[in-house]
Amino acid sequence: MGKQGIAIVDMDVKKLVALLNKAFSDEWLAYYQYWIGAKVVKGPMKEAVIAELTQHAADELRHADLLALRIIQLGGTPVTEPKEWYKHSNCGYEAPADPFVKAILEQNIHGERCAIAAYKKMVELTAVKDPVTYNIVLQILQDEVEHEEDLQAELEDLEVLLKTGGRR
Ligand code: FE
Ligand code: FE
Ligand code: MG
Repeated sequence: MGKQGIAIVDMDVKKLVALLNKAFSDEWLAYYQYWIGAKVVKGPMKEAVIAELTQHAADELRHADLLALRIIQLGGTPVTEPKEWYKHSNCGYEAPADPFVKAILEQNIHGERCAIAAYKKMVELTAVKDPVTYNIVLQILQDEVEHEEDLQAELEDLEVLLKTGGRR
């Protein structure tokens, strides 16, 4: 670990690592929620929704990667035990028990809203005090805002389709 890289962090580094591990756990759970959602989803607009969920899964995995690298830079260890993800997670995991497109979109929108709130807090906490972590959590926040927007746009299209189609 880089001594000067850590010395410039104007915060309690252990607490910062703990927060980053919470976000790291969220990202793995979000990754799996999207990944499995893309496999089981059923209903109208399925192809478009699968494409979006698959892209978001890849983004969440990339977020986990960014966070892991930062945790290691700070002298910490990313959570190594998957069953610990639940314990650390801010936003949890919602299994796609109902595979209907609308239910899956709603679950993931819910998850993105939680992620947006969590990263907004981290952006505020690290601004000025740790510009390197700030830059990472800001990038992730921008992606989560885009994710929510994309899912909501699909949900709106789906609702129009369901109304005009007269089903469900
Ligand atoms: Fe993410
Ligand atoms: Fe996301
Ligand atoms: Mg997208």
